[in-house]
Amino acid sequence: MTYNVKNLPIAIIGAGPVGLSAAVNLIDMGLTPIVFESGSSVGSNLAKWGHVRMFSPWSYNMDPIAISLLKKTDWIEPVLSEFPTGQELLERYVIPLASHEAITPHLHLNTRVENVSRQYHDILRNEGRKNAPFVVRTSNSEGQSDILVQAVIDASGTYQTPNWLGAHGIPALGELAASQSIIYGVPDILGPARKQYAGRTVLVVGGGHSAFNALQDLVKLSEQSDGMRVLWGIRGSSVNNIVRSPENDELQERRRLEMHIQKLLDEGKIEVFTNIAIESINYENGKLILQNRSGQLPPVDQIIAATGFRPDLDVMSELRTSLDSATQSPAALGPLIDPNLHTCGSVPEHGATELSHPESGLYIVGIKSYGRAPTFLLRTGYKQVKSVASALAGKTESDVQTANACDLLSVNRNCSQ
Ligand SMILES: Cc1cc2nc3c(=O)[nH]c(=O)nc-3n(C[C@H](O)[C@H](O)[C@H](O)COP(=O)(O)OP(=O)(O)OC[C@H]3O[C@@H](n4cnc5c(N)ncnc54)[C@H](O)[C@@H]3O)c2cc1C
Repeated sequence: MTYNVKNLPIAIIGAGPVGLSAAVNLIDMGLTPIVFESGSSVGSNLAKWGHVRMFSPWSYNMDPIAISLLKKTDWIEPVLSEFPTGQELLERYVIPLASHEAITPHLHLNTRVENVSRQYHDILRNEGRKNAPFVVRTSNSEGQSDILVQAVIDASGTYQTPNWLGAHGIPALGELAASQSIIYGVPDILGPARKQYAGRTVLVVGGGHSAFNALQDLVKLSEQSDGMRVLWGIRGSSVNNIVRSPENDELQERRRLEMHIQKLLDEGKIEVFTNIAIESINYENGKLILQNRSGQLPPVDQIIAATGFRPDLDVMSELRTSLDSATQSPAALGPLIDPNLHTCGSVPEHGATELSHPESGLYIVGIKSYGRAPTFLLRTGYKQVKSVASALAGKTESDVQTANACDLLSVNRNCSQ
């Protein structure tokens, strides 16, 4: 069959806030998206941490181009200076955007992208590669399909692939067997997960704002439920630096959370364990025993692993990607965001050029583009997809707007979400 590859749609993997923004930007450039979302509704990763109040206000969390589109409907714009929860972002922005008549025809829910490759090419084959369409292998309740597209924007996030508790980057010995007592991410402790934690000894592992959220809720629960102990394990050697945001921080919600955790520590409501490096987890008499580098931790009932996330790279394994070996973000972006190298705030702008790969037409965007670096903000993602859509529309580099990561990281400079 002969066809012009340029007439094929552009695949977007994931209908989170950044994937939907990519769709709006492509449509704005006269291009046709096809959006695959594995969940039964849009923003399904967001829904998993819907109870968490975001530390960036509405003005940071919505894409200006999407706002223009929504303003043409009966959408009620949120107050830009207020701070939504994840659920509010979903209900008041992500769902209305996905329900817009410009987007719905392109959206395929309950459809997981399993693999992406290039038609008639495995990763080794050069000949004709550049002009071959991409093959997107999807699966849904009707089975598997191969869909041809001209380009691929991977906005599939990282929430489904959390980091392990184990000290070496791999599961601690016994971690998989203990999985029924471990929650990765930020459980809704004061909501549906309350029963799991009430009256128990709970260990939170991780040093960022997700850990702060879990600790805040556990302490609140302990005030309503007898016999609880709230333990906090961090990799660092002290908890001296909890309030890191400046007084005039634009992200006031983040500072509020930091100050609250400091207060709880001062009041002795959280038991802190520093220099945590978990080697093994075992059950003994119905309790979890964690072997740490420097000895055993007290026995616990439940663990919350707020240890961050990593990108799932399997889906791209037949494509020629170029990834930074430390951050696992696109190679040119890696050194700009690597927390080993940077104090945040010194990161130059980035866009389609930094997000590209040897496989032309492939872009990883959104939080997945940051790989293991923990500093991503939605506002960066919206600028990324604007730049990528412009590049796919054939605009020259000088036309392409880039994401000003410097600006954004300076407001998120603790590198700790
Ligand atoms: C607890 C928490 C608080 C945060 N707070 C803030 C904040 O205050 N401010 C801020 O700017 N950022 C914040 N972030 C970071 C970031 O902005 C969010 O994670 C945001 O959801 C990232 O958007 P995304 O579209 O890149 O990815 P996601 O929202 O994760 O969306 C990815 C989508 O892809 C789908 N998907 C995954 N795999 C596949 C597949 N194979 N096929 C098809 N679909 C697939 C998923 O179901 C999901 O809907 C926070 C993150 C967390 C976890």
